[in-house]
Amino acid sequence: MFKREIAIICIFSMLLLLASCGAGESVRQIYVMDSVASIRLIPKNEAAADLICKELYDMDNVLSAYDGEVYDINRNGEGKVSRHTEALLRSSLELYEKTNGAFSPLLGSVIDLWGIGSKNYIPSQDEKENAVAASDIGNVAIEGDVIRLSGGARLSFGAVAKGYASDVIKSVLEEQEVEGAVISLGGNVYVHGKKPDGELWRVAIRDPRGGENSWLGTLLLSDRFVISSGDYERYFEQSGVRYHHIMDPETGSPAQSDLAAVAVICESGVVGDAYSTALYVMGKEKALSFWREGEGFELVLVGRDGVVTVTEGVADAFAPESGKGYSYETARR
Ligand code: AMP
Ligand code: MG
Repeated sequence: MFKREIAIICIFSMLLLLASCGAGESVRQIYVMDSVASIRLIPKNEAAADLICKELYDMDNVLSAYDGEVYDINRNGEGKVSRHTEALLRSSLELYEKTNGAFSPLLGSVIDLWGIGSKNYIPSQDEKENAVAASDIGNVAIEGDVIRLSGGARLSFGAVAKGYASDVIKSVLEEQEVEGAVISLGGNVYVHGKKPDGELWRVAIRDPRGGENSWLGTLLLSDRFVISSGDYERYFEQSGVRYHHIMDPETGSPAQSDLAAVAVICESGVVGDAYSTALYVMGKEKALSFWREGEGFELVLVGRDGVVTVTEGVADAFAPESGKGYSYETARR
């Protein structure tokens, strides 16, 4: 059998990833952070693959809102935390400022109130207002490695934990001098170095209105994160309304966005993860202004109107998939 010439890393699709595995590679697939993590190192480096899995299990143990130290702080109101939780909260507070609060690490009360994907509850206006008030960013304080919550606030790192974890993996890859790697954490992809033939990696952008293995275009990249958010990942429908998992911190309800999905392409996992969530909340116009005013990241925005907007920094790297019913445009600075 010939090895596939071009490996397609489909967001959310482990099958395609595994189809392109070869003998000179280290491959791992583990369940962490409520999703499948897939690790592929080329050439083979079993020690680095083991180290990456260990780091992932360690982070999973502390960052989950359902057990571990973040869970304990949400229950007790304060606690001493590990280096991961401390670093993630500090980064999250900066990203809260950068996104004008569209991303917030303190939305636990709002997220738990709805329980999208679990209890699927539609709260009253009063309940939403109380949860929004509890989520005020002034209700968290960090001193050294001690975090304190007040006013009913609860931490939630669901929007950034995987991005943060991919940054940790990226540093392991660098320290271990791994030449090429593809890491996917629940659909957030990091491509490291080049393919053995010296070519770039091809990363697929999921079609938010297609199935899990359907993509609307691909990007040729190296040393980049591709991090996606959208209303297709977790939701329930009632009376024809889709209640999805990305919350507008101002209203305490699922964001009424004109976007179906956002993919952020950048060199930092935690930044890409916070931005993908925040830009979905902002909607297309504000997301493009945010891109024009910012630096160090590029976007693929999928509008609910079927228009795919690719920012100019990745326009040449992007190849649309034909026959998907989308139209494509390039955004310029
Ligand atoms: P992502 O898939 O990275 O966009 O993360 C979505 C998850 O982050 C949700 O399932 C919630 O747990 C949490 N979340 C939802 N809305 C926000 C928000 N505006 N800011 C921070 N976290 C959020
Ligand atoms: Mg995110």
